Amino acid sequence: MEHEALIRLSAFTGLFTLFAVIEALVPRRARTQPRSTRWITNWAMTLLDSLTLRLLALALPLLAVGAAVDAQTNGWGLMNALDLPLWLTVVATVLIFDFAIWAQHLITHKVPLLWRFHRVHHADRDIDVTTAIRFHPVEIAFSMLLKIGLVYLLGPPAIGIILFEIILNGTAMFNHANIRLPLWLDAIMRRVLVTPDMHRVHHSDIRNEHDSNYGFSLSIWDRMFGTYIAQPTKGHDAMTIGLQWQDDRPSRLGWSLTLPFRSK
Ligand SMILES: [Zn+2]
Ligand SMILES: [Zn+2]
Repeated sequence: MEHEALIRLSAFTGLFTLFAVIEALVPRRARTQPRSTRWITNWAMTLLDSLTLRLLALALPLLAVGAAVDAQTNGWGLMNALDLPLWLTVVATVLIFDFAIWAQHLITHKVPLLWRFHRVHHADRDIDVTTAIRFHPVEIAFSMLLKIGLVYLLGPPAIGIILFEIILNGTAMFNHANIRLPLWLDAIMRRVLVTPDMHRVHHSDIRNEHDSNYGFSLSIWDRMFGTYIAQPTKGHDAMTIGLQWQDDRPSRLGWSLTLPFRSK
């Protein structure tokens, strides 16, 4: 636990670098926007997200992992009431929280107020490894509050939450990366995991396509609940990524941060 921050940061920077190198070597699609402005905006957004979580940690004063420790100390939550082996609660935590994030993602597409914030992620004109870190700070704070609520309800082990968050971070960077995977490998992987081709459908400008494939780590929830679309109708090269703003505005930080507060 004492090395938690270091482990998280190493996993994040290591995987970010790995996927960034792979997408530069074997890209799936040609870019529509210059990388420099987009990357600065998406990176700035993730720095603002970290700052928001730090402020939230001061106010609450617990984030999800702290809440898990707190719940365990007090014997709160379902898993703390049951005497289950640690490995089982860790596996259950990763699965249940992955399902929860899938459900939350679906809801953010259905509730107009939540969609206002989530559309900042979708407005990105290209999809690559930095799209995975492009979320509005309000959405990040909302997501953390939901997660903390679920932690108190379920009482998962702290190590399970850490593992879940590292896996989610890593798989999100993987499935947003502009990587050309051999089709046979994509077909095998997507039976269980969300691949870049599968998540790219979710970034289509066509409504029924971006209202599908909500998974971040596991592909099983979309198949189970009928929200799975295998491929974009126009194909991966011809499809349009983003929303109605097909110009350079989504690459700008100020425009992206204020997007939820505009009517159109
Ligand atoms: Zn979405
Ligand atoms: Zn996405």
